[in-house]
Amino acid sequence: MNRPLIPMIDKAIKIIEESNNIYIASHVQPDGDSIGSILALGMAIKKVKKEVNIIKVDDIPVDYSFLPKLEIIREYDVENNIDIFISLDSSDLDRLGIGKQFALKANKVINLDHHITNGNFGDINIVSSSSAATGEIVYEFIKRMEIKIDRDMATCLYTAISTDTGSFMYCNTTYKTHLIAAELLKLGIDKDYINRRLYQSKSIERVNLFISSLNKLEYFLDGKIGITVVTQDMLKDNNAKLEDTEGVISFIRDIDSIEVACLLKEINDKETKISMRSKKYVDVSAICDRFNGGGHKRAAGCTIYNKIDIAKELILKEIKNSF
Ligand code: AMP
Ligand code: MN
Ligand code: MN
Repeated sequence: MNRPLIPMIDKAIKIIEESNNIYIASHVQPDGDSIGSILALGMAIKKVKKEVNIIKVDDIPVDYSFLPKLEIIREYDVENNIDIFISLDSSDLDRLGIGKQFALKANKVINLDHHITNGNFGDINIVSSSSAATGEIVYEFIKRMEIKIDRDMATCLYTAISTDTGSFMYCNTTYKTHLIAAELLKLGIDKDYINRRLYQSKSIERVNLFISSLNKLEYFLDGKIGITVVTQDMLKDNNAKLEDTEGVISFIRDIDSIEVACLLKEINDKETKISMRSKKYVDVSAICDRFNGGGHKRAAGCTIYNKIDIAKELILKEIKNSF
């Protein structure tokens, strides 16, 4: 158990027990950690409370379509008497998309997250940047609630933790990560099926987009920086979606000389989404923070409201300055 978090977790459990109308949401452009976490916590609270609503803030990538109970993630209209809003895996309110409206209407906001850039925007903040995934904190939360973790919840938590740790490889992985994963395996999850669905089910379209994106890879600073793009034209040419960029950036970081990998995704001619990864020493969350984004030291992101060529110049300058 993450000891410093216990008083906050207990406080949150108490107000959950006293409440009836609870909403849960996570960040836009959802990943395995955010979806796995909202499903697991949603299922857990549903065991003791009827009124738990999990808000769909964005489309769910096909990668996670195998997760159990996905149908409990639904669109809702904002209402007035919300007892509690629980934000999972989101470093700030703006990243919640429509979820922000629910947070603003709620009597109490519980902010449960692991981003180093989290602004403690909740009434109760359960934030631990040493946790590899929000799913790890949710696991501890459910244990503390004394709710039995079933196979479906375990599948969601394993997905959350596996995806945010790059299958237990990234440097955020700790002995606790492995202990929690071991407990989840003990609950009888089908890890081979989960791994196949998460890592061995790429569509041909995704592979083609990967190839065309790598064809545009450019190196700077003696190969320490690798930067590439995915434009709307590239998506169209390959019949791919934005979620199909998954895998490009980690491949670039895996190159021997690379310290910082950067992927620019063209949303439209006024908006560019940026993903960044580092290997050993550059703090990419600090770079993204300068553009109102955030994340972790070795994985971060931001949005630059400009066209992709300009965004590239702006971010490249900041990356070079960080060496
Ligand atoms: P991504 O490159 O989108 O996979 O994001 C890498 C990490 O940075 C994840 O932990 C994200 O939650 C975080 N992140 C991405 N974009 C933003 C943003 N605009 N603001 C704050 N954190 C972000
Ligand atoms: Mn996330
Ligand atoms: Mn996360």
